[in-house]
Amino acid sequence: MSDWMASDPIIIQKGRGAYLYDINGQKYLDANSSIWTNLHGHAHPVINRAIRQQLSKISHSSALGLANEPASILAGELVPLANAQSRFNAQPELARLFYSDDGSTAMEVALKLAYEYTRRLGKAKKPRFLGLNGAYHGDTIGAVSLGHIDLFHKNYSGLLFESDSVMAPYCYRCPFNQAKPERADARTYRKCKWECVGQVEKAFATAKKSGNSYAGVVVEPLMQGAAGMVPQPTGWLKDVSAIARQYDALLIADEVMTGFGRVALRDAAGKPSYFASHAEGIIPDLMAVAKGMTGGYLPMAATFATQPIFDLFLGRYDEFKTFFHGHSFTANQLGSAAACASIDILKSPQTFHRRARLEQAMKEGLEELWLLPQVGDIRQSGCVAGIELVADWRQRTSIPLAAKAGIRVCTALAEAGVLTRPIGNVIVLMPPFCTKPDEIKKAIMLIAKAIRQVFSS
Ligand code: PMP
Repeated sequence: MSDWMASDPIIIQKGRGAYLYDINGQKYLDANSSIWTNLHGHAHPVINRAIRQQLSKISHSSALGLANEPASILAGELVPLANAQSRFNAQPELARLFYSDDGSTAMEVALKLAYEYTRRLGKAKKPRFLGLNGAYHGDTIGAVSLGHIDLFHKNYSGLLFESDSVMAPYCYRCPFNQAKPERADARTYRKCKWECVGQVEKAFATAKKSGNSYAGVVVEPLMQGAAGMVPQPTGWLKDVSAIARQYDALLIADEVMTGFGRVALRDAAGKPSYFASHAEGIIPDLMAVAKGMTGGYLPMAATFATQPIFDLFLGRYDEFKTFFHGHSFTANQLGSAAACASIDILKSPQTFHRRARLEQAMKEGLEELWLLPQVGDIRQSGCVAGIELVADWRQRTSIPLAAKAGIRVCTALAEAGVLTRPIGNVIVLMPPFCTKPDEIKKAIMLIAKAIRQVFSS
């Protein structure tokens, strides 16, 4: 914050497509999609029109005891999307959804539903949850309790409830990976025996033995975002889901970053897909979405649940079984109208083509970065990539956070007209789907230039 107070910030005035413009007319590529929210670019005529049309009717009315048109239409769009085009074997159906405002609240809702569902079934008095090392699920207290990033969470430990964590599959820095570093994504050359899956199995078995089984396991499917864009090797999610179900625990998917087509192009059967879980043929029991839901235009979120979870909150009035949770702006009409428009665009064949084209262009462009000795790992899933900077790639030696390597590279990059935000020493690349191949390749060249510039000084 002291650095921010001493700086002269870039003040954004407008956005057009994949670009942002500041008050001095300087143009920047929005290379982290405005903190992972924007899908189709800024000021998209279809989304703008939908918001304007809704604005002429009503902006907001309460959803407590009232329904409204756009939120109802949106729910009708979202439910089939959440369940994938392909019917996967032995997977539940996400039949219901609950609206809220952002990723953190969507995770709070998932947590409270899972907790109360487990209690009402009489499975535990105080249900416990298992998460992953490096997990981030938001900044509200329940979401922080499920998170496992010490830098963000440790100071608040006195406010939190306890949740357990187990190793995440971070192939590049995995203690079980016997492979020497290569100039390639660590997932492709790793040498291991899937010990990461074994650790999850062990955590479940130990909890069961102690008579205190887990009510649920919480995961960011395919890629952990705030951990530093840490992707899971193919098969991990499928195996972990099978373990959770074998132990009768709920699978709680946080698709706040990964959802709406960001990290997975196709589902396990090869059909166009919008959620990361589908890539491994998985439908979770609870799923939180936000960020890209409105195309990144307005704050809105949803938590999907199965019918059996929903049903446990039904009863006679005097049983007071209702889910006592609601926000003032739940099911906001402007957000719903934006989300309906964004989903229409997302489902079009043209957007599928754009996503495929962007994914390929990123892959080709990122190859160039292996030439830089300061690059230790480049990990891409779909249209998201993390570039990890290191002191010595042969030893995987980390750069101390205090050296601000990521921040300095991103500052140099901003001067060259590309905006993104690092996570420690990881440079994040997550452009809107409308970014053209030559634009993303140019941005990657500028990343290389910024890395050279920072490390030569
Ligand atoms: N879950 C994940 C995986 C996230 O990446 C984030 C935000 N970065 C959140 C939850 C919290 O979302 P929000 O900032 O909208 O509260």
